[in-house]
Amino acid sequence: MRPDEAGTFAETFNAANVERYRDAAQAAGISELGVSEHIHRFQQSLSVWDHPYWREQAVDDIEAYCAFVREQTDMRLGLEVDFVPGREDLTQNLIERCELDYVVGSVHFLGDLAVDFDRYDIWTDARSPEAVWRRYYETLAAAAHSGLFDILAHPDLVKMWGSSRPAPPGDPRRYYEPALEAIADTQIAVEVSTAGLRKPVGEIYPAPAFLEGVVAAGAPIALSSDAHLPEQIGFGYERALELLAGAGVDELAVFERRQRRLEPLGR
Ligand SMILES: [Zn+2]
Repeated sequence: MRPDEAGTFAETFNAANVERYRDAAQAAGISELGVSEHIHRFQQSLSVWDHPYWREQAVDDIEAYCAFVREQTDMRLGLEVDFVPGREDLTQNLIERCELDYVVGSVHFLGDLAVDFDRYDIWTDARSPEAVWRRYYETLAAAAHSGLFDILAHPDLVKMWGSSRPAPPGDPRRYYEPALEAIADTQIAVEVSTAGLRKPVGEIYPAPAFLEGVVAAGAPIALSSDAHLPEQIGFGYERALELLAGAGVDELAVFERRQRRLEPLGR
């Protein structure tokens, strides 16, 4: 809904800006639009975690956000919420402050370090890439099992840096296993996000092999461009549709008041 680390609440959540997103969506042939602000933009997130990045970012009021989206727009009201191990109850309390349409759960941080953010870069640490990948997918599995979320965001975010960070050699599929098992157990919806096309890796999240695992697990797919600017709405959707078709996905999960339904793709 707004560029990372930019845009005040008033600059972002106003009728004119919503109109810009609406127009862009219409041009991209998208009729139903959801907004899912990152939890760390809200003061209330500090009740869950006091990471220095969150302390710096947490300036807005979650209730003002929810009220704006509900009362002044026709968009679905979502939140992107980090899974913080050990803080599940506090996270649940935070999620329940608003009546949301959907909650996207994500893993960016492993401990205090991030897989996708150079200011808190996990990759400068002495840890082996194997250990980082293993821990990333185990944490993703725990996020699915937590029951806090409707959708699992950008499921293979750990690849975000592409060749500019170390990666384990060989077939990455062996790392997916705990996450795919958790997805099978919980039937959580899994996001296919074109945001990765804009990142150093230049690939959709998740990789085709991960998506095939999700389909084999029988879990539903949700589609996102993770747009932080109007011109990013629907970004790369043609490539996403190709990927989905290749995996045999013909319906997508959509959410209203945290109830999930499946809609045929291409509508
Ligand atoms: Zn994210």
